[in-house]
Formats: sequence, structure tokens, C-alpha cells
Amino acid sequence: MKSDLVRLVSLQDLDLMIEESHEVEKLGFNVTGYEELMKAREELAKGINKPLLARYERLRAKLKRALVPVKNDICLGCFLRQPTSRGARGREDEQIFTCENCGRMLYWLD
Ligand SMILES: [Zn+2]
Repeated sequence: MKSDLVRLVSLQDLDLMIEESHEVEKLGFNVTGYEELMKAREELAKGINKPLLARYERLRAKLKRALVPVKNDICLGCFLRQPTSRGARGREDEQIFTCENCGRMLYWLD
């Protein structure tokens, strides 16, 4: 059983790929597989907890990456140190915290 967090990370990957294919298209190249990407995105989004998805979409409207990893207690979106107490809950319970500095959603890498 995949967690919302894993799904959300995959969703962001897909969104970035979709964005990239738009960029390539703008350069005048023919993009294949775009439909498949959109379909995969739709399928994946269906499985994600609605409030969580809404939070993600809101952030994605202003940031390229809404979800960033935390490594050694550092938010890799803005490099602010996160309270150590969050680490255990982020790692073990996959609780999704928001960085108080940049507002991105966080997930723990280690
Ligand atoms: Zn941050």
C-alpha cells in the first residue's frame, strides 16, 4: 500500500515532466507521450487525500517544486534548518510538515 507521500512525490515528478514536455513543444518539437503523462497524472491524483492534493496544487501554482526533501534537518527548498523534533514524525510516520520559511511541503530523506 503506497502512502500519500509516495504518491505526492510521484505526482510532482509527473508534473515536472509535463512541464518539460511543454517547454520542448514550445521549441517546435513534436512531443509524444503527453497524453499518457496526463492520464497517469489523473490516475495518480485520484488516489491522493483531497485536502493534501489541494495544498499541493496551491503551492504548485507559485512554486516549481511544492514538495522538497529534508536532508540532515535542512529544507532543501530554502536551506532553513528544521526543528529536530519534526524529524522522527516526518521519517517514521510520514507526516507532511510545511517549512515555515518557504512554505513548501517537506519529506524526510533519511
Ligand atoms: Zn524551506
